[in-house]
Amino acid sequence: MKIRVRFAPSPTGFLHIGGARTALFNWLYARHHEGTFILRIEDTDAARNTAEAVNVVLNSLRWLGLVWDEGPLTADATGSFKGDCGPYFQSQRRKDYERRVEALLSRGLAYESEGAIKFKMRREPVVIDDLVVGQVRRELTDREMQDPDFVLVRSDGQPVFHLCNVVDDLDMGVTHVIRGEDHLSNTAKHIALFQAFEVPPPRYAHIPLILNQDGSKMSKRDAGASLTPYMDEGYVPEAILNYLCLLGWSPKDNRELMPLDEIVERFDLPQVLRHNARFDMEKLKWMNYEYSRTLSPDRFHELAVHALARAGIDTNSFPLPYVKAALDTCVGKVKLFSDLPAYAGFYFNPDPAIDPAAAQKDFVPENRPRLARLREAFAALTAFDPDTIGNTLAATARELGVKTGVLVHPTRLACTGRTVGPSLYHLLAVLGKERVLQRLDQAIARIG
Ligand code: GLU
Repeated sequence: MKIRVRFAPSPTGFLHIGGARTALFNWLYARHHEGTFILRIEDTDAARNTAEAVNVVLNSLRWLGLVWDEGPLTADATGSFKGDCGPYFQSQRRKDYERRVEALLSRGLAYESEGAIKFKMRREPVVIDDLVVGQVRRELTDREMQDPDFVLVRSDGQPVFHLCNVVDDLDMGVTHVIRGEDHLSNTAKHIALFQAFEVPPPRYAHIPLILNQDGSKMSKRDAGASLTPYMDEGYVPEAILNYLCLLGWSPKDNRELMPLDEIVERFDLPQVLRHNARFDMEKLKWMNYEYSRTLSPDRFHELAVHALARAGIDTNSFPLPYVKAALDTCVGKVKLFSDLPAYAGFYFNPDPAIDPAAAQKDFVPENRPRLARLREAFAALTAFDPDTIGNTLAATARELGVKTGVLVHPTRLACTGRTVGPSLYHLLAVLGKERVLQRLDQAIARIG
C-alpha cells in the first residue's frame, strides 16, 4: 500500500509547537515509507481565515523543511518542484462537501433539522483501533444515547469540521491519520462517516499532547509554544526537528542528537510513546547550540546570511570569499543566529559604533601614540595573516615596553567597536590591511 498522510492545520495565525510536531511525524512517516505528504489547510471558518494566518503555516513549514508533495498546481507552477503545488484549501472544496451531503441525504443517512443538516449517528459504541493509543471503545454518553446525531452543515450553509475532514481524507486517499490526541474524541464520528460513505476508514494514530515542565497542558501563551519566535531568534531548523521528534518518539537507544536522514530511516509509528511528552526549553537550547556549532560550513553560511539580512545587514555587496571568511570566524561562537548581527556586524559596517564604556577605558590619551605606532607597523607589512599580525603586535608591544593586552584591547575596540568578538588576529586578517588601517585612523582621531 502506498502511504498517504496529511497535515491539516486550521490557520489561526499561529503554529503551535505541537502542530509542528504533528506535521513532522506525518512528514517522517511519509518519507520513511516513501509515501506522500499532503498539506491541507482547514480554513472553513471564514472569520479566522486570512492570507496572513495561512502564510504563518506555510512559512513555518518551509522554514522547517517540511515541504508537501502534492496539491492543486498554482498558476505558474509546472509541478516539477516540490512545494510549488498546493496546498489544498478546504475553502476551495465547497462543491465536494455539498455532493457528499447530497449522497447522504438521498440515502437517508442525513436529514434536515431546523435549517441545518444532521448526520444519523449509529446508536452503538465505536471501536477505534489506534496505532498509538491501542484499542479504544467509545461508549455513547447519556446525552448521546438521547441524541447522538451531529450537524454536518450549519443552517447558514457552512459545512462543519467533521464533514470536511472526513470527505477530504476520503477524496485525498489518506491512508493514515496522524494527529494530536485531542482529536481522539472526534474519531468515532469520523469512522461512522466513513462507514456511511461505504469506504474503509484510514488507520488512526493519535499522538500524545505536549505538556509544560510542570505537567500542565501547553497552551498558546506558554513560553516556547509558538514556532515563530524560534524563526525570529535564529534557531537552527534541523535542531528544532531533532528536538521535536524526541517529544513523543523514541529510537529506544537513548540517542538524542540524530541527523534527520537517520531519523527518517528509523521513524515508525510503533515507537511513538503513549505518554504525554514534557517540553524542555533548556534541552532544546542545548540541542540548538550543538547543531549550530557542527553545521556544515555551507549551511552555517546560509543561516548566518539570513540572520544578518533580517537585522538589516546586507552581505551581498561584499565579495563572497570575504563574507565566507568573516563568518568562518563566528562558527561555534554564538548561541543563536540572532546574536550574530551584534557579534559580526562590524565586518560589514565601515564605521562600527564604539561601545562607550569600553571607549572610556581603552581610548585614553596614552593609547593614542601606541595605536599610532601599531598602525605604522601594520602599514609596513606585506603579508597580513593572523600569525604575522600577532607577531607584529607582540613586537610593537615589546618595543613600547607594554604588555600585549595594552594594544589588544584598543585595537579590538577600534576595529570592531566592541570588547568581545571573534579571535582578534583572525578577524584583523579577514578585515584586511586597508580596513584595519582605516579603523585605527578613525580611533586615533577620536582619541585626539
Ligand atoms: N484542523 C484540525 C486541527 O487543526 C486537524 C484535524 C486532523 O488532523 O484531523 O486540529
